[in-house]
Amino acid sequence: MFEQISAAPADPILGLTEAFKADPRDTKINLGVGIYKDEAGQTPILATVKKAEAILLESEKTKSYLSIEGNAAYGAAVQALLFGKASNIVSNKRARTAQAPGGTGALRIAAEFYASQFENKKVWVSNPTWANHNNVFAAAGLEIVQYNYYNADAKDMDFNAMLSSLEGAAAGDLVLFHGCCHNPTGIDPTEAQWQQLAALSAEKGWLPLFDFAYQGFGSGIEEDAKGLRIFTEANQELLVASSFSKNFGLYNERVGAFTLVAKCSDTAETAFSQAKSLIRANYSNPPAHGAAVVTTILNDAALYAEWDKEVAEMRDRIQQMRDLFVATLKEKGVDRDFSFIARQNGMFSFSGLTKEQVATLKDEHGLYIVGSGRISVAGMTRNNMDALCSAIAAVI
Ligand code: PLP
Repeated sequence: MFEQISAAPADPILGLTEAFKADPRDTKINLGVGIYKDEAGQTPILATVKKAEAILLESEKTKSYLSIEGNAAYGAAVQALLFGKASNIVSNKRARTAQAPGGTGALRIAAEFYASQFENKKVWVSNPTWANHNNVFAAAGLEIVQYNYYNADAKDMDFNAMLSSLEGAAAGDLVLFHGCCHNPTGIDPTEAQWQQLAALSAEKGWLPLFDFAYQGFGSGIEEDAKGLRIFTEANQELLVASSFSKNFGLYNERVGAFTLVAKCSDTAETAFSQAKSLIRANYSNPPAHGAAVVTTILNDAALYAEWDKEVAEMRDRIQQMRDLFVATLKEKGVDRDFSFIARQNGMFSFSGLTKEQVATLKDEHGLYIVGSGRISVAGMTRNNMDALCSAIAAVI
């Protein structure tokens, strides 16, 4: 039977990582995958994670199963992070959270919950968006529709085009927003634009789904929740898929969360029972370790303060690399205006490099960039900056 199976296409981003690993050149640079690198080009374990793990090593009493939705303390900590401790969503118990295997797992729960409960089967995603959104939503049987987001000429958001394409979204359609640090463009709505989108969503009756994978990488932990919190003011129901891969550096522990917000606690409980039922049929119950680390840090004031600083360090280093990248390209005599890179948020930006330029950069210079021209600024360091800017200068 297996001989009739044809090969699936390689994942464009993870496939690039494989090619990078196999490249024998020691000058190679990877700006493909979204993994934070420090100044030494390493992805270290956060000090707060190590401290939490030491606490857990002493205090953990069992490896018995968690419940379907995972640890309740984790759910409460996630909700405080998303909505703020004083939020009426928290005090009125309007939200339910399931610990999920990564942000991807959380998105899949959201997609399957939506696909199984409602007649509408459309999900609206920005053009462009993180490539895996398409896989996850298609796997859940949803029809994916794109809304305009990016103006490639202006290297900026096209908000009017976004609004006009979203005119087509009907009541009950699922509409995906990136909570902050839009992947791949690095461009987020302003506060006024979030207000406008939130009001439109409420007026039209969309079901908003926030993908929140970079909280803390834009302006700060609290600041980055602004868009989501504006939405919760205007919309009584929404879904959130959180990922703690990046802001806790817990990539391989697979730690995320699916959160459902309803008008009241009873409705939330009933709707959430359907999410629990599909989780039971999928992976049964979540892995414990990563979420226990996150809970330990978020629930300890001193560890929280230290973690906040560690996130700030990652955020500031990326911003420094953005500025240095723009300055170094200028130094290399590149005429093209790359200043937009310094104005964008989070790990990614769209460089504007063409597929051909990206291919030449890989073949001739060992510089790995996703075919769309998306660059992971988090992969730049003071040590590789000169070489990578020389390579880019040589191809444009
Ligand atoms: N959403 C976006 C926009 C992402 O960029 C990522 C990871 O790169 C995820 C979700 C999923 O994160 P995780 O690795 O936790 O599954």
